[in-house]
Amino acid sequence: MRTELELIRRAREAREKAYVPYSGFRVGAALEAEDGTVYTGCNIENAAFSPTCCAERTAFFKAVSEGVTSFRRIAVVGGHKGQEATETACPPCGVCRQVMREFCDPESFRILLAGSDDQVKSYLLKELLPEGFGPDFLS
Ligand code: ZN
Repeated sequence: MRTELELIRRAREAREKAYVPYSGFRVGAALEAEDGTVYTGCNIENAAFSPTCCAERTAFFKAVSEGVTSFRRIAVVGGHKGQEATETACPPCGVCRQVMREFCDPESFRILLAGSDDQVKSYLLKELLPEGFGPDFLS
C-alpha cells in the first residue's frame, strides 16, 4: 500500500506541469483508484477563463475517460509559481468536490491536503461536502 506522502509526492510532480499563465497558481493532484493505479492532474487555465480546469478534475476525467470510476483517495498540493506549495493546505474548490461526490463514497473517500512542510490534513469527502447531492438522489 502506497503511503500518504508517496501520493503527495506524485501530486507535487503533477503540479510542475500546471498551465497557469494568468494566475501563476499551480495545483497538482494525484488520484488513487481502487486498483491502486494513480491518475495525476494539474490545473489548466484558458484565456477565456471559463474553460479552465482544476487539477483534481483533470485527474478524475483522465481516470473516467479510461473507464475507471472507483477511487480510494486524492492528494492535492497547490501554491504560487516559484513557491514549493502554500503554507497551509490547498483545499479543492466546490466544483471539484461535486465531481468527487459523483464517483466517490462520502463515507470512505479521503482527501489529503499538504502544505509546504508535508504536514498532511486528511478529510473524508463527507466532511468537505456535507449533505452533498449525488447520483443516489436520481436513482
Ligand atoms: Zn476545483
